Amino acid sequence: MTELRDHLMALADKAVAAGEGPRQAAPHPVNDVMISHWTEAMGDRNPVYAGPDAVAPPVMIQVWSMEGLSRDPAREFRRPMDDVFDALDEAGYKGVVATNCEHTYHRYLSTGEELTSSTRMVDMVGPKRTALGEGYFVTWNVTWFSGDEPVAEMMFRLLKFQPVVPAEKAKREPYPLRPAVNDDTRFFWDGVQAGELRIQRCGGCGELRHPPGPVCPSCRSAERTHIVASGAGTVYSYVVHHHPPVPGQEPPFVVAVVELPEGVRMVGNIVQCPIEEVYVGMPVRVTYQEMDDELTLPMWAPIPEEA
Ligand code: ZN
Repeated sequence: MTELRDHLMALADKAVAAGEGPRQAAPHPVNDVMISHWTEAMGDRNPVYAGPDAVAPPVMIQVWSMEGLSRDPAREFRRPMDDVFDALDEAGYKGVVATNCEHTYHRYLSTGEELTSSTRMVDMVGPKRTALGEGYFVTWNVTWFSGDEPVAEMMFRLLKFQPVVPAEKAKREPYPLRPAVNDDTRFFWDGVQAGELRIQRCGGCGELRHPPGPVCPSCRSAERTHIVASGAGTVYSYVVHHHPPVPGQEPPFVVAVVELPEGVRMVGNIVQCPIEEVYVGMPVRVTYQEMDDELTLPMWAPIPEEA
């Protein structure tokens, strides 16, 4: 967390130190058509904004430098704080809300004036806890120029925040490997969800078998039911998996064949145990690992030999 904050702050300091960004030319000179549209939309009938000697409403200042919807998406132009915004997005601070906007006007603008504008980052403060979520306040300043004369300025502050997600809606990344659930295995996975380790039992001869199958290998009966295992086991055999990479698993990890006192063997990962401490004959107990919001996998953790 501190590392992330340091990273974000370093980017912010760099953006502040970069000072004023490049000057961007406004797409159109100050003109009576846009002034007329604006005053009509706002219901502003002040006569100084109409007629041959009209001036532009000062509060329109941002309108002159707006790029419009059809701007070139491949444009190279970046503002000094865009790297900071990208990093905030990447770190999960995707929410945005404007908190402050202050205009300063140095003089009225007349039709025909060609404007440019440039941006400089002022500062970044955070992380702060807010009602919306934890976030950083980013402040920047835009200056508009007519020629080289500054004619207006705007201080703009917004909050980039990590939206608070209600706990029940918090979705984890889906675990990439899903078990094959079918009519033969569904009882097993339903059991895992319920915190039970189930073993298939033949409805004919009563033999237990794992992995589950449609027909009893001993008596050929297709009738089947299940029992709930105690959850105890011992490591019958194991491998330490280094390669190839397995999605969602950090190698090396241990995959074991675990012998159950009920008489069947199951394959599963050994967890909560340093790899070098795993041994054949190690007593283990089943543990249920939530891999994502839907999938739980049974794995095996060591238990003290006395237990
Ligand atoms: Zn049978």
